Amino acid sequence: MKDNQSPEIKKYLAKANKDYDRNLSKLESLNWNENLEKKQQILHIEVFQKIDCLDCANCCKTTPTTVNTKDIKRISKYLGISKKQFMRKYVMDDLTGDLVLNFVPCTFLNDDNTCSIYEVRPSTCIKYPLTDDPEFKRRAKWNARNTMVCPASLLVVEGV
Ligand code: SF4
Ligand code: SF4
Repeated sequence: MKDNQSPEIKKYLAKANKDYDRNLSKLESLNWNENLEKKQQILHIEVFQKIDCLDCANCCKTTPTTVNTKDIKRISKYLGISKKQFMRKYVMDDLTGDLVLNFVPCTFLNDDNTCSIYEVRPSTCIKYPLTDDPEFKRRAKWNARNTMVCPASLLVVEGV
């Protein structure tokens, strides 16, 4: 895999690693209310105007992607292979019961950080990093972990 992350993205990732404990403590101590939830939603929009995922793709490079039966049906159809062939070639059980794409970095990640199955990518890829999710406030540890994968998560966590 080519080293194709921008210096800015690398700086965010190094910072997130250094600040993990502080970010987790902050997330665990936040007093969530309606205003803070609104702030989270606004931050999500602002952060993704600032961060270009094509300079990053760190989620695709580092995190096994879960897939569900609808994803499998849609992607195998797009690739012109059967669901069985898709499962055999691209999917494995992660030993907790989840099905995941079987390579990290993701098999479908291109050298220019684009996704070769973008139109039909798994729903987890569409939703990630869930910084606009209403359940964000209930996932302190998960969000803190995400700051070390995703610069957009870091900026939302720093901002709330
Ligand atoms: S399917 Fe596409 S968006 Fe999802 S992890 Fe792989 S390369 Fe990234
Ligand atoms: S979602 Fe986060 S980790 Fe994934 S490419 Fe975008 S900024 Fe990077």
